[in-house]
Amino acid sequence: MNSAAVHHATIHRAALVVPICSPPIEDGAVLLDGGVIRSLGKFHDVKRCAPLAASVVDHGPSSVILPRFVNCHCHLELSWAMGRIPEGLGFGKWLKRLMSLIHTEGVSQSDHERLGHIARGLELACGCGTGLVGDISNTPYDIQKISSISSSLISNKPFIHNFLEIIHPQTDVLALDPQILDAGDDRQFLLRRSFSAHSVYTCSRQALGAIKEDCSRRGYPFSIHVSESQEELEFVRSAKGPISAILESRGRDISRFFRCSTSPMSLLSEEGLLDDKTLCVHCVFVDDSDIDKVVETGAWVCLCPESNLFISGRLPPVDTFIKRGVKLCIGTDSLASGTNLSILSQLRTIFEAFPSVEPWRLVEAATLGGASALGLGERFGCIAPGRVGALLVLSDVDARAGEIYEFLCTEPVEERMKPVDT
Ligand SMILES: [Zn+2]
Repeated sequence: MNSAAVHHATIHRAALVVPICSPPIEDGAVLLDGGVIRSLGKFHDVKRCAPLAASVVDHGPSSVILPRFVNCHCHLELSWAMGRIPEGLGFGKWLKRLMSLIHTEGVSQSDHERLGHIARGLELACGCGTGLVGDISNTPYDIQKISSISSSLISNKPFIHNFLEIIHPQTDVLALDPQILDAGDDRQFLLRRSFSAHSVYTCSRQALGAIKEDCSRRGYPFSIHVSESQEELEFVRSAKGPISAILESRGRDISRFFRCSTSPMSLLSEEGLLDDKTLCVHCVFVDDSDIDKVVETGAWVCLCPESNLFISGRLPPVDTFIKRGVKLCIGTDSLASGTNLSILSQLRTIFEAFPSVEPWRLVEAATLGGASALGLGERFGCIAPGRVGALLVLSDVDARAGEIYEFLCTEPVEERMKPVDT
């Protein structure tokens, strides 16, 4: 080990270390060096094997260290719409209100204002312990400009996978500018970008295939809203209903780009779009046959429960997903359908509705599950040697190893959380 690395080595000690990929460790410690996790274990073992010059930060007798959370699905650019649409409208009316807000206010925002909203959303997400974000946007943004607005971005260094969302049925938008995708890639270990599809009702089957192919070629996940609403199901089955009316009002010729199926998941399956790099976001209105397809293909389901309750008052069948072995990750969706960007808040909502679910499964979905769904499971989501030191410390926690997962799924601890300095 060279002298520079020794100089930066720090042992972080806590009453409890929760690695996620291995059991919690009481009186534990994590050795960080150069922003990377070098070792973990009981404090005395980590200290004995650490470089002599390593400093020790003791976070105290009621502290917990865990990996930062992963928000696999949000729309930071819609942060300005918080509190602008009432709860419980149902999807059709909610979407109509959102589109009207975007067309009256959103489109007139300057680039600086738009970046400011993204920065504000990012600050809210980071403030709730998030370290990795799967962010949907309709236009690309410059991460350097956002860092100049958001001090949180500089101090928290979240990693962002920006899904550039295609909401147009034609495939020619993919020819937009290939450099857009590459521009942000890993320049500062902060942002990478790929295309994504909004949903099966906004893109033609051909466009969905082209987007998926582009993601596969780059080795990136393919993200899509799936079975979010009863209205989506109605549209996929009959090409009728509120979504049809909205598309027609936007000048879309439905008969030219859309062909029905029995469900959104069936449509994705027919086009060969489900695999272990596909993120099916929401999956509220799914049946056994849909879940079979998810299990068979190893696709991920991203739960955004508070958004689902906000819009339609219904939750996805989380207990069934877990029984069937569906791979889960967690998102918040946007502030246009919620009041916070806290992943822990999503966990509390799920656990309250499904108390029979083992809490560790939810915490895993919120960390390692999310990182794996975004294709970053080798770098984020758990505390293990070689992973990025994107850690959180919770203070004043009265929970021992056997209780910590339930504690995280029940107690609002966002205020007692801060990122571990690397
Ligand atoms: Zn969404």
